Amino acid sequence: MKYCKKCTMPDTRPGIVFDSNGVCSACNHYEARKNIDWNKRWTEFEELCNRYRGCNGLGNYDCAIAVSGGER
Ligand SMILES: [Zn+2]
Repeated sequence: MKYCKKCTMPDTRPGIVFDSNGVCSACNHYEARKNIDWNKRWTEFEELCNRYRGCNGLGNYDCAIAVSGGER
């Protein structure tokens, strides 16, 4: 049996893939997330909101915010 070098996840877990470094797909996914520039993301999100803001009049909630991920 093979284990992930980072989280010691065994390769018996369904859907798990190891890369050439012996690191599982979950760890690789996590690493990729860390490299996301969240400030840039937020700016883009604000710009998107600004585009729709105000179309229902000031002071109303006019943004639908979809949040995904388990970071609460
Ligand atoms: Zn892992």
